[in-house]
Amino acid sequence: MADRYLSFTGTAPGRFLTRRLGLPQPAALERGAFSGGLLHLTAGKTDLDLAPVLARTGLGPDDTGRPAAVVLDATGVRDVDALAEVHAALHPVVRSVATSGRVVVLGTPPDPADHHQAAAQQALEGFTRSLGKEIGRGRTVNLVRLADAARADAAESTLRFLLSPASAYVSGQVVEVGPASGSGTAAPDDWELPLAGRTALVTGAARGIGAAVAHTLAGQGAQVVVLDVPQAEDEARRAAERLGGTALALDITAEDAGERIAAAVPGGIDVLVHNAGVTRDRRLANMPADRWSSVLDVNLASVLRTTDALLAAGAVNRGGRIVATASIAGLAGNAGQTNYGASKAGIVGLVRSLAPRALAGHGVTVNAVAPGFIETRMTAAVPLFIREAGRRMNSLAQGGLPVDVAQTTAWLAHPASGAVNGQVVRVCGQSLLGA
Ligand code: NAD
Repeated sequence: MADRYLSFTGTAPGRFLTRRLGLPQPAALERGAFSGGLLHLTAGKTDLDLAPVLARTGLGPDDTGRPAAVVLDATGVRDVDALAEVHAALHPVVRSVATSGRVVVLGTPPDPADHHQAAAQQALEGFTRSLGKEIGRGRTVNLVRLADAARADAAESTLRFLLSPASAYVSGQVVEVGPASGSGTAAPDDWELPLAGRTALVTGAARGIGAAVAHTLAGQGAQVVVLDVPQAEDEARRAAERLGGTALALDITAEDAGERIAAAVPGGIDVLVHNAGVTRDRRLANMPADRWSSVLDVNLASVLRTTDALLAAGAVNRGGRIVATASIAGLAGNAGQTNYGASKAGIVGLVRSLAPRALAGHGVTVNAVAPGFIETRMTAAVPLFIREAGRRMNSLAQGGLPVDVAQTTAWLAHPASGAVNGQVVRVCGQSLLGA
């Protein structure tokens, strides 16, 4: 499963040869810690008091000329003329951003009542996605839209995530931070252990991405429940023991899965991660009904059923977080995956529809991660040439790791992320598939 091409291009002869042949040049992504400071730029006349939030990220002001992170506050861009300031701010510095560095553009949602503002703010999306595709060297570019441009603190957990190594495989994304909500945006006592005292349940957590999610959430202080099918009970139990959590052997397609989960977590769930998923690929013309229904049942119907049951039973605590797992196959489509693509697009529909009501009714946010090509057992089973294409067809020219999805989940699960709701965030290195 190791990415031998990435290792090869990291050597001097490999770099020489692949450059000469015009092949992709992936940079090994920095997932540890950044060295380097932060550059804070503005475009347009802004009212946003961003400096205190940026100061708390731990990245000091850049004094080296090679910033690890650049934040462009473009919330004041209200017309096309002001877009020139976006160019003027970033053009001189973009080349100097450190390898694996971060660029975050801050904007506001396009205003349906002002087509000049809407044009200028929508322009930032095309700008961000284009810069992400050209910037190279493991650097990422993302756009954060602040619904309430007076409340920089509502975006603190989001900025910390996007400006840190935790977001190594998240690029070309547009995230909306809504008005501060009833679901919590207050800073945790300890930013290192934001989930202390919280209970997280992760489905499909015996292995792969789910195991990484459970590991990351536990590392941030959560008490985790590792749920997986009865056949994987031993693996789930071992994973839970390592994390000081508990295992729950349960097939989530069971009619009463919601009730059984609620019974297993009597204190209620603070973070519910719907990660379990399966593929049963076949072109539609060759796909028997059972292959269709098993994928729809695990990936979508059970998510709907258990979410409904747990919310109705009050088993997701106020301030809780639900994170479901979509896929770029659900956004862009994929040959041989009509069942899987349908199920994952269904997750997007579920998240967008339920999010405002879950927030209003239960004080719970609902978001999705949409992984691209992640190095797991699922993708190791993909035939070689398709696998190699999947790995390279993104702006970072490599596959992501389970920890990348886990870190994104942890940001959405963060107690201070209450203003992030109804978002579908791709963890795909800005895959060329889909917008
Ligand atoms: P994986 O096959 O390695 O792990 C999936 C886990 O889910 C397994 O432990 C499995 O036993 C469990 N599971 C399956 N059916 C279940 C059921 N009915 N009840 C309870 N548990 C069940 O897969 P992965 O690659 O880690 O993927 C995790 C999630 O991420 C899935 O939803 C998948 O669709 C999604 N995803 C993965 C990728 C990727 O590149 N690996 C890309 C996009 C989306």
